[in-house]
Amino acid sequence: MTAFGIDLGTTNSCLAYIDESGRPAVVRNSIGENTTPSVVYFERRDSVVIGSAAANAALLAPELAVRHVKRRMGRKDVDFHFHGTRYTPETISALILKELAAAAERRLGRPVRDVVITVPAYFGVAEREATRRAGEIAGLDVLDVLAEPVAAALSHQHGHPAGSPRHLLVYDLGGGTFDTTVIRVDGDDVNVVCTGGDRDLGGADWDARIRAFLLEEFTARHPRLDPTADEQFMQELWIMAEQLKKELSSARSRRRNLRFAGATVQVELTRERLEELTADLLQRTLKITEDTIDRARRQGVAGFDEVVLVGGMTRMPAVASRLEGLLAKDGPADGMPRRHEPDLAVAQGAALFALIKQVQQEDDGPDGRDGPDGRDERVADRLGISAEQAESMRSRNVTTVVPRGFGVKVIDEHDPLAATDPMRARFFVVHLLPADTPLPADSGPVVFGTVLDNQPMLEVEVWEQTRPDGTEELADNTMIGRGMLRGLPPRLPRKTPIEITFHMSETGRLSVHAVEPRSGREVRFDLQIGGMDKAAVADAKAAVARHDTTS
Ligand code: ADP
Ligand code: MG
Repeated sequence: MTAFGIDLGTTNSCLAYIDESGRPAVVRNSIGENTTPSVVYFERRDSVVIGSAAANAALLAPELAVRHVKRRMGRKDVDFHFHGTRYTPETISALILKELAAAAERRLGRPVRDVVITVPAYFGVAEREATRRAGEIAGLDVLDVLAEPVAAALSHQHGHPAGSPRHLLVYDLGGGTFDTTVIRVDGDDVNVVCTGGDRDLGGADWDARIRAFLLEEFTARHPRLDPTADEQFMQELWIMAEQLKKELSSARSRRRNLRFAGATVQVELTRERLEELTADLLQRTLKITEDTIDRARRQGVAGFDEVVLVGGMTRMPAVASRLEGLLAKDGPADGMPRRHEPDLAVAQGAALFALIKQVQQEDDGPDGRDGPDGRDERVADRLGISAEQAESMRSRNVTTVVPRGFGVKVIDEHDPLAATDPMRARFFVVHLLPADTPLPADSGPVVFGTVLDNQPMLEVEVWEQTRPDGTEELADNTMIGRGMLRGLPPRLPRKTPIEITFHMSETGRLSVHAVEPRSGREVRFDLQIGGMDKAAVADAKAAVARHDTTS
Protein backbone atom coordinates (compact mmCIF):
# COMPACT_ATOMS: atom_id res chain seq x y z
CA MET A 1 0.00 0.00 0.00
CA THR A 2 1.36 3.40 -0.95
CA ALA A 3 2.30 5.71 1.92
CA PHE A 4 1.83 9.45 1.63
CA GLY A 5 3.47 12.52 3.06
CA ILE A 6 1.31 15.46 4.02
CA ASP A 7 2.48 19.00 4.67
CA LEU A 8 -0.40 20.29 6.77
CA GLY A 9 0.51 23.95 6.47
CA THR A 10 -0.79 27.04 8.21
CA THR A 11 -1.64 28.57 4.87
CA ASN A 12 -1.27 25.81 2.29
CA SER A 13 -1.24 22.04 2.47
CA CYS A 14 0.30 19.56 0.09
CA LEU A 15 0.28 15.80 -0.39
CA ALA A 16 3.00 13.70 -2.05
CA TYR A 17 4.06 10.10 -2.55
CA ILE A 18 6.97 8.21 -4.04
CA ASP A 19 6.04 7.28 -7.56
CA GLU A 20 6.89 4.15 -9.55
CA SER A 21 10.21 5.63 -10.64
CA GLY A 22 11.22 6.29 -7.03
CA ARG A 23 10.83 10.05 -7.18
CA PRO A 24 8.72 12.15 -4.82
CA ALA A 25 5.62 13.28 -6.69
CA VAL A 26 3.08 15.84 -5.58
CA VAL A 27 -0.53 14.84 -6.12
CA ARG A 28 -2.59 17.70 -7.50
CA ASN A 29 -5.86 18.47 -5.80
CA SER A 30 -9.29 18.22 -7.41
CA ILE A 31 -8.87 21.49 -9.28
CA GLY A 32 -5.33 20.76 -10.39
CA GLU A 33 -3.37 22.80 -7.85
CA ASN A 34 -0.17 21.51 -6.27
CA THR A 35 -1.10 22.99 -2.93
CA THR A 36 -4.47 23.49 -1.27
CA PRO A 37 -5.19 26.55 0.86
CA SER A 38 -5.77 25.40 4.45
CA VAL A 39 -9.10 27.19 4.61
CA VAL A 40 -12.34 25.55 5.72
CA TYR A 41 -15.68 27.09 4.83
CA PHE A 42 -18.86 25.86 6.50
CA GLU A 43 -21.32 26.41 3.71
CA ARG A 44 -24.30 24.60 5.19
CA ARG A 45 -24.99 22.25 8.05
CA ASP A 46 -23.75 19.21 6.15
CA SER A 47 -21.53 20.73 3.53
CA VAL A 48 -17.99 21.92 4.03
CA VAL A 49 -15.78 23.48 1.38
CA ILE A 50 -12.00 23.31 1.58
CA GLY A 51 -9.22 25.03 -0.36
CA SER A 52 -9.32 27.82 -2.92
CA ALA A 53 -13.11 27.70 -3.15
CA ALA A 54 -13.27 28.10 0.61
CA ALA A 55 -10.83 31.02 0.50
CA ASN A 56 -13.04 32.73 -2.11
CA ALA A 57 -16.27 32.00 -0.28
CA ALA A 58 -14.69 33.36 2.89
CA LEU A 59 -14.48 36.76 1.21
CA LEU A 60 -18.23 37.13 1.29
CA ALA A 61 -18.86 35.38 4.59
CA PRO A 62 -15.70 35.37 6.70
CA GLU A 63 -17.72 34.37 9.75
CA LEU A 64 -18.29 30.95 8.18
CA ALA A 65 -14.60 30.25 7.54
CA VAL A 66 -11.56 29.13 9.49
CA ARG A 67 -8.02 30.03 8.40
CA HIS A 68 -4.65 29.48 10.02
CA VAL A 69 -6.05 26.79 12.31
CA LYS A 70 -2.52 25.43 12.73
CA ARG A 71 -1.71 28.40 14.92
CA ARG A 72 -4.30 27.02 17.35
CA MET A 73 -3.21 23.37 17.31
CA GLY A 74 -2.83 21.82 20.74
CA ARG A 75 -4.95 24.50 22.40
CA LYS A 76 -7.72 23.03 24.53
CA ASP A 77 -9.33 26.40 25.14
CA VAL A 78 -10.11 27.07 21.48
CA ASP A 79 -13.20 25.93 19.64
CA PHE A 80 -15.36 26.98 16.71
CA HIS A 81 -19.12 26.75 16.20
CA PHE A 82 -20.86 26.47 12.83
CA HIS A 83 -24.48 25.57 12.18
CA GLY A 84 -24.87 24.18 15.67
CA THR A 85 -21.80 21.93 15.63
CA ARG A 86 -18.71 22.49 17.74
CA TYR A 87 -15.28 22.05 16.18
CA THR A 88 -11.83 21.92 17.74
CA PRO A 89 -8.54 22.79 16.01
CA GLU A 90 -8.10 19.02 15.52
CA THR A 91 -11.46 18.49 13.85
CA ILE A 92 -10.94 21.49 11.56
CA SER A 93 -7.51 20.13 10.60
CA ALA A 94 -9.09 16.70 10.07
CA LEU A 95 -11.44 18.21 7.48
CA ILE A 96 -8.44 19.54 5.54
CA LEU A 97 -6.65 16.19 5.75
CA LYS A 98 -9.76 14.34 4.64
CA GLU A 99 -10.13 16.57 1.61
CA LEU A 100 -6.46 16.13 0.62
CA ALA A 101 -6.77 12.37 0.97
CA ALA A 102 -10.07 12.16 -0.90
CA ALA A 103 -8.76 14.27 -3.80
CA ALA A 104 -5.63 12.10 -4.05
CA GLU A 105 -7.71 8.91 -3.97
CA ARG A 106 -9.82 10.19 -6.85
CA ARG A 107 -6.79 11.25 -8.84
CA LEU A 108 -4.65 8.17 -8.27
CA GLY A 109 -7.42 5.60 -7.96
CA ARG A 110 -5.88 4.03 -4.88
CA PRO A 111 -6.59 4.37 -1.18
CA VAL A 112 -4.81 6.93 0.97
CA ARG A 113 -4.41 5.51 4.45
CA ASP A 114 -0.83 5.40 5.72
CA VAL A 115 0.51 8.93 6.10
CA VAL A 116 3.27 10.96 7.68
CA ILE A 117 2.16 14.47 8.64
CA THR A 118 4.67 17.24 9.15
CA VAL A 119 4.80 19.76 11.99
CA PRO A 120 7.10 22.71 12.70
CA ALA A 121 10.23 21.54 14.51
CA TYR A 122 9.44 23.64 17.55
CA PHE A 123 5.93 22.26 18.01
CA GLY A 124 5.62 20.91 21.53
CA VAL A 125 4.12 17.61 22.55
CA ALA A 126 0.57 18.96 22.77
CA GLU A 127 0.69 20.28 19.20
CA ARG A 128 2.23 17.06 17.86
CA GLU A 129 -0.40 14.96 19.60
CA ALA A 130 -3.14 17.23 18.27
CA THR A 131 -1.76 16.80 14.74
CA ARG A 132 -1.66 13.04 15.11
CA ARG A 133 -5.24 13.06 16.39
CA ALA A 134 -6.34 15.21 13.47
CA GLY A 135 -5.05 12.45 11.21
CA GLU A 136 -6.85 9.77 13.18
CA ILE A 137 -10.07 11.75 13.12
CA ALA A 138 -9.73 12.01 9.35
CA GLY A 139 -9.59 8.19 9.27
CA LEU A 140 -5.89 8.05 8.40
CA ASP A 141 -3.18 5.83 9.84
CA VAL A 142 -0.55 8.26 11.03
CA LEU A 143 2.76 6.42 10.73
CA ASP A 144 4.50 9.37 12.35
CA VAL A 145 4.64 13.11 12.60
CA LEU A 146 7.86 14.58 11.22
CA ALA A 147 9.54 17.93 11.71
CA GLU A 148 9.14 20.06 8.58
CA PRO A 149 12.83 21.03 8.26
CA VAL A 150 13.82 17.37 8.48
CA ALA A 151 11.36 16.68 5.69
CA ALA A 152 12.82 19.55 3.65
CA ALA A 153 16.34 18.23 4.26
CA LEU A 154 15.30 14.72 3.23
CA SER A 155 13.86 15.92 -0.03
CA HIS A 156 16.82 18.18 -0.67
CA GLN A 157 19.23 15.36 0.05
CA HIS A 158 17.30 13.01 -2.23
CA GLY A 159 18.60 14.91 -5.22
CA HIS A 160 22.14 15.35 -3.87
CA PRO A 161 23.33 12.24 -2.06
CA ALA A 162 26.39 13.11 -0.01
CA GLY A 163 29.30 11.03 1.13
CA SER A 164 30.90 13.09 3.87
CA PRO A 165 28.94 14.63 6.75
CA ARG A 166 27.30 17.90 5.82
CA HIS A 167 25.44 20.57 7.71
CA LEU A 168 22.32 22.18 6.39
CA LEU A 169 20.59 25.28 7.63
CA VAL A 170 16.89 25.16 6.80
CA TYR A 171 15.11 28.51 6.87
CA ASP A 172 11.35 28.07 6.50
CA LEU A 173 9.14 31.13 6.36
CA GLY A 174 5.54 30.25 5.60
CA GLY A 175 2.26 32.03 5.91
CA GLY A 176 1.92 31.81 9.66
CA THR A 177 4.99 30.19 11.13
CA PHE A 178 8.72 30.56 10.95
CA ASP A 179 11.33 28.03 11.79
CA THR A 180 14.99 27.52 11.30
CA THR A 181 16.86 24.33 11.90
CA VAL A 182 20.39 23.01 11.74
CA ILE A 183 20.57 19.52 10.32
CA ARG A 184 23.45 17.13 10.03
CA VAL A 185 23.41 14.65 7.17
CA ASP A 186 25.91 11.83 7.41
CA GLY A 187 25.43 9.09 4.87
CA ASP A 188 22.02 7.66 5.67
CA ASP A 189 21.68 9.49 8.96
CA VAL A 190 19.74 12.72 9.18
CA ASN A 191 19.89 14.46 12.54
CA VAL A 192 18.46 17.67 13.86
CA VAL A 193 21.23 19.49 15.70
CA CYS A 194 19.06 22.29 17.01
CA THR A 195 16.05 24.27 16.09
CA GLY A 196 14.34 27.57 16.75
CA GLY A 197 11.28 29.36 15.53
CA ASP A 198 8.23 31.47 16.16
CA ARG A 199 4.76 30.08 15.62
CA ASP A 200 3.28 33.53 15.36
CA LEU A 201 5.44 34.94 12.64
CA GLY A 202 4.79 34.51 8.94
CA GLY A 203 3.51 35.93 5.69
CA ALA A 204 0.21 37.00 7.28
CA ASP A 205 2.18 39.52 9.35
CA TRP A 206 3.65 41.00 6.15
CA ASP A 207 0.13 41.14 4.69
CA ALA A 208 -1.13 42.95 7.80
CA ARG A 209 1.56 45.62 7.38
CA ILE A 210 0.64 46.15 3.74
CA ARG A 211 -3.02 46.32 4.63
CA ALA A 212 -2.33 48.95 7.27
CA PHE A 213 -0.29 50.91 4.71
CA LEU A 214 -3.15 50.79 2.18
CA LEU A 215 -5.64 51.94 4.80
CA GLU A 216 -3.43 54.83 5.83
CA GLU A 217 -3.05 55.92 2.24
CA PHE A 218 -6.81 55.87 1.88
CA THR A 219 -7.67 57.72 5.06
CA ALA A 220 -4.92 60.31 4.47
CA ARG A 221 -6.88 61.39 1.41
CA HIS A 222 -10.34 60.89 2.90
CA PRO A 223 -10.00 61.52 6.63
CA ARG A 224 -13.75 61.54 7.16
CA LEU A 225 -14.35 58.10 5.67
CA ASP A 226 -13.87 55.04 7.85
CA PRO A 227 -13.80 51.84 5.80
CA THR A 228 -12.60 49.68 8.71
CA ALA A 229 -16.15 48.74 9.68
CA ASP A 230 -16.88 47.40 6.20
CA GLU A 231 -15.99 43.76 6.49
CA GLN A 232 -16.01 43.07 2.78
CA PHE A 233 -13.75 46.03 2.03
CA MET A 234 -11.36 44.87 4.73
CA GLN A 235 -11.36 41.29 3.38
CA GLU A 236 -10.63 42.55 -0.11
CA LEU A 237 -7.80 44.60 1.33
CA TRP A 238 -6.32 41.40 2.75
CA ILE A 239 -6.37 39.74 -0.65
CA MET A 240 -4.96 42.86 -2.30
CA ALA A 241 -2.20 43.08 0.31
CA GLU A 242 -1.13 39.50 -0.26
CA GLN A 243 -1.23 39.88 -4.03
CA LEU A 244 0.89 43.02 -3.86
CA LYS A 245 3.40 41.24 -1.67
CA LYS A 246 3.67 38.33 -4.09
CA GLU A 247 3.93 40.56 -7.15
CA LEU A 248 6.66 42.63 -5.50
CA SER A 249 8.81 39.51 -5.31
CA SER A 250 9.36 39.93 -9.03
CA ALA A 251 8.16 43.49 -9.80
CA ARG A 252 9.73 46.66 -8.40
CA SER A 253 6.53 48.60 -7.93
CA ARG A 254 2.77 48.12 -8.16
CA ARG A 255 -0.31 50.35 -8.27
CA ARG A 256 -3.82 49.67 -7.02
CA ASN A 257 -7.13 51.51 -6.81
CA LEU A 258 -8.91 51.55 -3.47
CA ARG A 259 -12.63 52.23 -3.75
CA PHE A 260 -14.90 52.93 -0.85
CA ALA A 261 -18.15 54.87 -0.48
CA GLY A 262 -17.79 56.44 -3.90
CA ALA A 263 -14.22 57.60 -3.29
CA THR A 264 -11.26 56.18 -5.23
CA VAL A 265 -7.63 56.45 -4.19
CA GLN A 266 -4.74 55.22 -6.27
CA VAL A 267 -1.86 53.91 -4.21
CA GLU A 268 1.59 52.81 -5.21
CA LEU A 269 3.74 50.38 -3.29
CA THR A 270 7.39 49.84 -4.18
CA ARG A 271 9.52 46.92 -3.15
CA GLU A 272 11.74 49.29 -1.14
CA ARG A 273 8.75 50.65 0.77
CA LEU A 274 7.50 47.13 1.42
CA GLU A 275 10.90 46.15 2.77
CA GLU A 276 10.91 49.20 5.05
CA LEU A 277 7.41 48.49 6.33
CA THR A 278 8.37 44.95 7.25
CA ALA A 279 12.06 45.26 8.10
CA ASP A 280 11.52 44.42 11.77
CA LEU A 281 9.63 41.23 10.87
CA LEU A 282 12.47 39.98 8.68
CA GLN A 283 14.91 41.05 11.38
CA ARG A 284 13.07 38.83 13.88
CA THR A 285 13.61 35.78 11.66
CA LEU A 286 17.29 36.68 11.32
CA LYS A 287 17.70 37.06 15.08
CA ILE A 288 16.16 33.62 15.66
CA THR A 289 18.40 32.21 12.91
CA GLU A 290 21.47 33.79 14.48
CA ASP A 291 20.60 32.38 17.91
CA THR A 292 20.05 28.94 16.39
CA ILE A 293 23.39 29.12 14.58
CA ASP A 294 25.05 30.10 17.87
CA ARG A 295 23.53 27.09 19.60
CA ALA A 296 24.70 24.85 16.75
CA ARG A 297 28.19 26.32 17.02
CA ARG A 298 28.30 25.43 20.71
CA GLN A 299 27.54 21.88 19.57
CA GLY A 300 30.49 21.92 17.22
CA VAL A 301 28.91 22.98 13.93
CA ALA A 302 31.48 25.26 12.32
CA GLY A 303 29.65 26.25 9.14
CA PHE A 304 27.04 25.25 6.63
CA ASP A 305 27.43 23.36 3.40
CA GLU A 306 24.02 24.42 2.30
CA VAL A 307 21.29 26.86 3.22
CA VAL A 308 17.87 25.61 2.17
CA LEU A 309 15.02 28.08 1.80
CA VAL A 310 11.54 26.68 2.29
CA GLY A 311 8.12 28.32 2.46
CA GLY A 312 6.36 30.65 0.06
CA MET A 313 7.72 33.76 1.77
CA THR A 314 11.30 32.88 0.83
CA ARG A 315 10.39 33.99 -2.70
CA MET A 316 10.83 37.55 -1.41
CA PRO A 317 14.27 38.64 -2.62
CA ALA A 318 14.98 40.36 0.69
CA VAL A 319 15.00 37.01 2.50
CA ALA A 320 17.91 35.48 0.61
CA SER A 321 19.89 38.72 0.50
CA ARG A 322 19.57 39.47 4.22
CA LEU A 323 20.33 35.85 5.07
CA GLU A 324 23.41 35.98 2.87
CA GLY A 325 24.50 39.06 4.78
CA LEU A 326 24.10 37.25 8.06
CA LEU A 327 26.03 34.19 6.89
CA ALA A 328 28.77 36.24 5.25
CA LYS A 329 29.82 37.34 8.73
CA ASP A 330 31.07 33.79 9.23
CA GLY A 331 33.24 33.91 6.15
CA PRO A 332 32.71 32.82 2.58
CA ALA A 333 32.91 29.09 3.30
CA ASP A 334 29.20 28.82 3.94
CA GLY A 335 26.82 27.69 1.27
CA MET A 336 24.66 30.46 -0.08
CA PRO A 337 20.88 30.29 0.37
CA ARG A 338 19.11 28.18 -2.20
CA ARG A 339 15.45 27.84 -2.85
CA HIS A 340 14.44 24.25 -3.20
CA GLU A 341 10.82 23.70 -4.23
CA PRO A 342 9.76 26.11 -1.48
CA ASP A 343 6.13 25.00 -1.63
CA LEU A 344 6.56 21.28 -2.19
CA ALA A 345 9.78 20.17 -0.49
CA VAL A 346 8.16 19.47 2.88
CA ALA A 347 5.45 17.17 1.50
CA GLN A 348 7.99 15.44 -0.73
CA GLY A 349 10.33 14.81 2.19
CA ALA A 350 7.39 13.54 4.24
CA ALA A 351 6.60 11.09 1.43
CA LEU A 352 10.19 9.81 1.54
CA PHE A 353 9.98 9.46 5.28
CA ALA A 354 6.62 7.68 5.03
CA LEU A 355 8.26 5.12 2.76
CA ILE A 356 11.21 4.76 5.15
CA LYS A 357 8.78 4.16 8.02
CA GLN A 358 6.82 1.64 6.04
CA VAL A 359 9.92 -0.32 5.06
CA GLN A 360 11.22 -0.29 8.61
CA GLN A 361 7.84 -1.44 9.95
CA GLU A 362 7.83 -4.25 7.42
CA ASP A 363 11.28 -5.19 8.72
CA ASP A 364 9.90 -5.44 12.23
CA GLY A 365 7.12 -7.71 11.06
CA PRO A 366 7.29 -11.51 10.70
CA ASP A 367 9.04 -11.32 7.33
CA GLY A 368 11.87 -9.31 8.80
CA ARG A 369 12.81 -12.02 11.24
CA ASP A 370 13.28 -14.93 8.87
CA GLY A 371 16.67 -13.72 7.71
CA PRO A 372 17.70 -11.12 5.21
CA ASP A 373 17.30 -13.37 2.14
CA GLY A 374 14.85 -11.85 -0.25
CA ARG A 375 13.62 -9.49 2.42
CA ASP A 376 14.06 -6.35 0.40
CA GLU A 377 12.34 -8.00 -2.54
CA ARG A 378 9.36 -8.99 -0.40
CA VAL A 379 9.13 -5.57 1.20
CA ALA A 380 9.57 -3.92 -2.19
CA ASP A 381 6.89 -6.09 -3.70
CA ARG A 382 4.43 -5.31 -0.98
CA LEU A 383 5.12 -1.59 -1.08
CA GLY A 384 5.28 -1.39 -4.83
CA ILE A 385 8.87 -0.04 -4.92
CA SER A 386 12.12 -1.47 -6.28
CA ALA A 387 14.34 -3.69 -4.13
CA GLU A 388 17.12 -1.09 -4.34
CA GLN A 389 14.75 1.51 -2.99
CA ALA A 390 13.73 -0.75 -0.13
CA GLU A 391 17.35 -1.46 0.72
CA SER A 392 18.34 2.19 0.74
CA MET A 393 15.25 3.13 2.75
CA ARG A 394 15.84 0.45 5.35
CA SER A 395 19.27 1.76 6.26
CA ARG A 396 18.12 5.37 6.47
CA ASN A 397 18.03 6.72 9.95
CA VAL A 398 16.25 9.90 10.84
CA THR A 399 16.71 11.16 14.35
CA THR A 400 14.73 13.96 15.78
CA VAL A 401 15.30 15.89 18.95
CA VAL A 402 13.29 16.98 21.95
CA PRO A 403 11.84 20.20 20.56
CA ARG A 404 11.95 22.05 23.87
CA GLY A 405 13.05 21.30 27.39
CA PHE A 406 10.85 19.17 29.66
CA GLY A 407 11.16 19.15 33.39
CA VAL A 408 9.56 19.22 36.79
CA LYS A 409 8.66 22.15 38.96
CA VAL A 410 10.81 22.31 42.09
CA ILE A 411 11.14 24.61 45.03
CA ASP A 412 14.20 26.81 45.37
CA GLU A 413 15.96 25.47 48.46
CA HIS A 414 17.96 28.66 48.82
CA ASP A 415 14.77 30.60 49.43
CA PRO A 416 14.35 30.91 53.25
CA LEU A 417 10.60 30.48 52.77
CA ALA A 418 11.22 26.94 51.46
CA ALA A 419 11.46 25.57 55.00
CA THR A 420 8.77 27.67 56.65
CA ASP A 421 6.13 28.49 54.06
CA PRO A 422 6.96 26.43 50.96
CA MET A 423 3.91 27.42 48.95
CA ARG A 424 5.14 31.02 48.93
CA ALA A 425 8.74 30.15 48.11
CA ARG A 426 10.32 30.59 44.70
CA PHE A 427 9.69 27.79 42.23
CA PHE A 428 11.56 27.00 39.06
CA VAL A 429 11.76 24.20 36.50
CA VAL A 430 14.58 21.65 36.31
CA HIS A 431 14.76 20.36 32.75
CA LEU A 432 15.33 16.62 32.82
CA LEU A 433 15.30 16.55 29.05
CA PRO A 434 16.87 19.75 27.71
CA ALA A 435 15.91 21.06 24.27
CA ASP A 436 17.76 19.35 21.40
CA THR A 437 18.26 15.99 23.18
CA PRO A 438 18.03 13.29 20.46
CA LEU A 439 14.97 11.03 20.59
CA PRO A 440 14.25 8.52 21.96
CA ALA A 441 15.54 10.12 25.14
CA ASP A 442 15.91 8.87 28.68
CA SER A 443 16.91 11.21 31.47
CA GLY A 444 17.94 8.39 33.80
CA PRO A 445 16.90 8.81 37.43
CA VAL A 446 17.37 12.37 38.65
CA VAL A 447 17.28 12.81 42.41
CA PHE A 448 15.06 15.42 44.05
CA GLY A 449 13.97 15.65 47.69
CA THR A 450 10.80 15.99 49.72
CA VAL A 451 10.15 19.48 51.02
CA LEU A 452 8.58 18.87 54.45
CA ASP A 453 9.06 16.47 57.34
CA ASN A 454 6.41 13.70 57.35
CA GLN A 455 5.34 14.56 53.81
CA PRO A 456 2.65 11.98 52.92
CA MET A 457 2.63 12.58 49.20
CA LEU A 458 4.33 14.47 46.47
CA GLU A 459 2.99 16.07 43.35
CA VAL A 460 5.06 15.72 40.19
CA GLU A 461 4.27 18.65 37.94
CA VAL A 462 5.59 18.32 34.39
CA TRP A 463 6.48 21.58 32.65
CA GLU A 464 7.50 22.24 29.08
CA GLN A 465 9.63 25.17 27.90
CA THR A 466 7.64 27.61 25.84
CA ARG A 467 10.69 28.59 23.75
CA PRO A 468 13.70 26.43 22.84
CA ASP A 469 16.05 28.94 24.48
CA GLY A 470 13.83 29.59 27.51
CA THR A 471 15.26 29.67 31.03
CA GLU A 472 14.25 27.60 34.04
CA GLU A 473 12.01 30.37 35.32
CA LEU A 474 8.33 29.40 35.50
CA ALA A 475 7.48 32.26 33.17
CA ASP A 476 9.42 30.56 30.35
CA ASN A 477 7.61 27.25 30.87
CA THR A 478 4.09 25.94 30.87
CA MET A 479 2.58 23.11 32.88
CA ILE A 480 1.52 20.20 30.70
CA GLY A 481 0.58 17.49 33.20
CA ARG A 482 0.89 16.17 36.69
CA GLY A 483 0.86 13.00 38.73
CA MET A 484 0.63 12.25 42.43
CA LEU A 485 3.07 10.02 44.33
CA ARG A 486 0.90 8.92 47.26
CA GLY A 487 1.38 6.74 50.30
CA LEU A 488 4.91 7.76 51.20
CA PRO A 489 6.00 5.93 54.38
CA PRO A 490 5.32 7.82 57.65
CA ARG A 491 7.95 9.96 59.40
CA LEU A 492 10.12 10.65 56.38
CA PRO A 493 12.46 13.56 57.08
CA ARG A 494 12.48 16.46 54.64
CA LYS A 495 14.92 16.10 51.76
CA THR A 496 14.18 12.37 51.50
CA PRO A 497 15.42 11.44 48.01
CA ILE A 498 12.85 10.96 45.28
CA GLU A 499 14.03 9.74 41.90
CA ILE A 500 12.28 11.04 38.82
CA THR A 501 12.87 9.67 35.33
CA PHE A 502 11.60 11.05 32.03
CA HIS A 503 11.46 8.98 28.90
CA MET A 504 10.38 10.40 25.60
CA SER A 505 9.68 8.12 22.64
CA GLU A 506 10.61 8.92 19.07
CA THR A 507 7.10 10.12 18.48
CA GLY A 508 7.21 12.47 21.45
CA ARG A 509 5.17 10.54 23.98
CA LEU A 510 6.45 11.43 27.44
CA SER A 511 6.49 8.82 30.21
CA VAL A 512 7.20 9.94 33.74
CA HIS A 513 8.33 7.74 36.63
CA ALA A 514 8.80 8.92 40.22
CA VAL A 515 9.91 6.62 43.04
CA GLU A 516 10.90 6.82 46.67
CA PRO A 517 13.68 4.21 46.46
CA ARG A 518 13.66 2.97 50.08
CA SER A 519 9.96 2.04 50.20
CA GLY A 520 9.57 1.46 46.49
CA ARG A 521 6.46 3.66 46.44
CA GLU A 522 6.15 4.90 42.91
CA VAL A 523 3.97 6.59 40.35
CA ARG A 524 4.10 6.27 36.59
CA PHE A 525 2.16 8.26 34.11
CA ASP A 526 2.13 8.90 30.39
CA LEU A 527 1.06 12.35 29.57
CA GLN A 528 -2.44 12.54 28.21
CA ILE A 529 -1.62 15.86 26.64
CA GLY A 530 -4.50 17.55 24.91
CA GLY A 531 -6.75 15.15 26.78
CA MET A 532 -8.80 13.71 23.94
CA ASP A 533 -9.38 10.04 24.67
CA LYS A 534 -10.23 7.25 22.25
CA ALA A 535 -13.98 7.72 22.62
CA ALA A 536 -13.68 11.43 21.91
CA VAL A 537 -11.65 10.66 18.78
CA ALA A 538 -14.39 8.25 17.68
CA ASP A 539 -17.05 10.90 18.25
CA ALA A 540 -15.10 13.50 16.37
CA LYS A 541 -14.52 11.02 13.54
CA ALA A 542 -18.25 10.42 13.25
CA ALA A 543 -18.85 14.16 13.17
CA VAL A 544 -16.30 14.66 10.41
CA ALA A 545 -17.55 11.68 8.41
CA ARG A 546 -21.05 13.18 8.28
CA HIS A 547 -19.93 16.01 6.06
CA ASP A 548 -19.72 15.60 2.37
CA THR A 549 -16.61 17.58 1.63
CA THR A 550 -16.39 19.18 -1.76
CA SER A 551 -13.93 21.63 -3.11
P1 ADP B 1 2.62 27.56 5.23
O1 ADP B 1 3.81 26.73 5.44
O2 ADP B 1 2.35 28.51 6.35
O3 ADP B 1 1.40 26.82 4.83
P2 ADP B 1 3.59 28.44 2.62
O4 ADP B 1 4.97 27.91 2.64
O5 ADP B 1 2.63 27.88 1.66
O6 ADP B 1 2.94 28.55 4.04
O7 ADP B 1 3.73 30.02 2.36
C1 ADP B 1 2.62 30.82 2.27
C2 ADP B 1 3.06 32.25 2.35
O8 ADP B 1 3.96 32.52 1.29
C3 ADP B 1 1.89 33.20 2.21
O9 ADP B 1 2.02 34.23 3.15
C4 ADP B 1 2.06 33.72 0.81
O10 ADP B 1 1.54 35.01 0.67
C5 ADP B 1 3.56 33.71 0.66
N1 ADP B 1 3.99 33.70 -0.73
C6 ADP B 1 3.65 32.82 -1.69
N2 ADP B 1 4.21 33.16 -2.86
C7 ADP B 1 4.92 34.28 -2.62
C8 ADP B 1 5.73 35.16 -3.44
N3 ADP B 1 5.90 34.92 -4.73
N4 ADP B 1 6.30 36.23 -2.83
C9 ADP B 1 6.12 36.47 -1.53
N5 ADP B 1 5.38 35.70 -0.73
C10 ADP B 1 4.78 34.63 -1.27
MG1 MG C 1 5.09 25.24 5.48
